[in-house]
Amino acid sequence: MNYRHIYHAGNFADVLKHAVLVNVIRYFERKEAAFRVLDTHAGIGQYDLSRGEAEKTGEWRDGIGRLLDADLPEKVAPLLRSYLDCVRVLNPEIGPDGGIKSYPGSPRLARMLLRKQDRLSLMELHPADYETLHAAFDGDYQVRATHLDGWLALAGHLPPKERRGIVLVDPPFEEPGEFDRLADGLAKAHRRFATGTYLLWYPIKKGAPVAAFHQKLKELAIPKMLCAELVVRSERDTEGLAGSGLVIVNPPYTLAGELDILLPYLKTCLAQDRFARAGSFWIAGETAHEKEDGR
Ligand code: SAM
Repeated sequence: MNYRHIYHAGNFADVLKHAVLVNVIRYFERKEAAFRVLDTHAGIGQYDLSRGEAEKTGEWRDGIGRLLDADLPEKVAPLLRSYLDCVRVLNPEIGPDGGIKSYPGSPRLARMLLRKQDRLSLMELHPADYETLHAAFDGDYQVRATHLDGWLALAGHLPPKERRGIVLVDPPFEEPGEFDRLADGLAKAHRRFATGTYLLWYPIKKGAPVAAFHQKLKELAIPKMLCAELVVRSERDTEGLAGSGLVIVNPPYTLAGELDILLPYLKTCLAQDRFARAGSFWIAGETAHEKEDGR
C-alpha cells in the first residue's frame, strides 16, 4: 500500500468529490430522521498542507486554493457554501493570498456536518493512516474508525441500522482491477441496501477503462445512477490524473440540477489547459440525459 492521500489532499479531484458529498449530506439533513455515513476508504481525516508531502506536490493550490480565491457567481455560491465554510472553519487565519494550512478529508467534512442523531463509520487499511484517523476521532461517540478492508465493509456493514445512509467508496486505484472491484462492490452492497445513496469515485487518465466501467454499471440494472465528471487537462499528454468522476447511486432529486450549475463553473475555475471539460449524465434512470460543457 503505497498511496498516501496527503500528496493529493485538496486537489481538483477532492474538490469535486467533497463538494458533491457535502451537498448530498445537506440534502439528507432535510429530514429529521438519523442517517449514517460510511466511508470505506477514509484516509487520515484531515490534512496538514504545510507538511512536506503536501508542499512537494502543491496540488491543493490548483484545487481548493483556486476556489477559495475565486469570486463565486451568485448561482454557484450556495452550492459551495457549506463545503467552503468547513474549509474556512479549519483555517481561521486564512491569509489574503488564500493560503490555507489545513484541509478536511471526507471524514472531517462529514463529521463537521453531522447532527447529534447521525453517525459516521470509517474504514482505513493503511496501518499508519488508520492510527492517525483513529486518534483524530478518539472519544467521539458519533464516529467509529475501524482498521479494516473497505471492500469487506462495503457489504458487511450494510444496511446501516438507521436505514438511511450515504456510502462513499474512494479507493486509491493503485492496483489493477480497481474499476471492476468498484462495480462488483456496488452490486453486492446494493443487494443489501438498495435505498442507500452511494458515491463512487474513479480516476480519468490515459488508459483508464472508464467506458467499460460505465457499461458494467449499466448492466447491474440499478435503477438510478447519475455520473459527474470533471477533467482539468488533456488526458492524452499526461500520465497523471487528468480528471475524475463520481457515480452517484440514488442521488437526491436536486443533484442533477445542481451539477448543471456547478460543473461548468468548476471547469472554468480549475481548468489547466484548453481540453478541460465537465459534464453530468445518467448512467441509469431519468431518460439518460447528457449535459457536457466544453469538450
Ligand atoms: N476518502 C478520503 C477523502 O476524501 O478524504 C481519501 C481516501 S484516499 C483516496 C484512499 C485511502 O484508502 C487511502 O488512505 C488508503 O490508505 C486507503 N486504502 C487503500 N486500500 C484500502 C482498503 N482495501 N480498505 C480501506 N482503505 C484502503
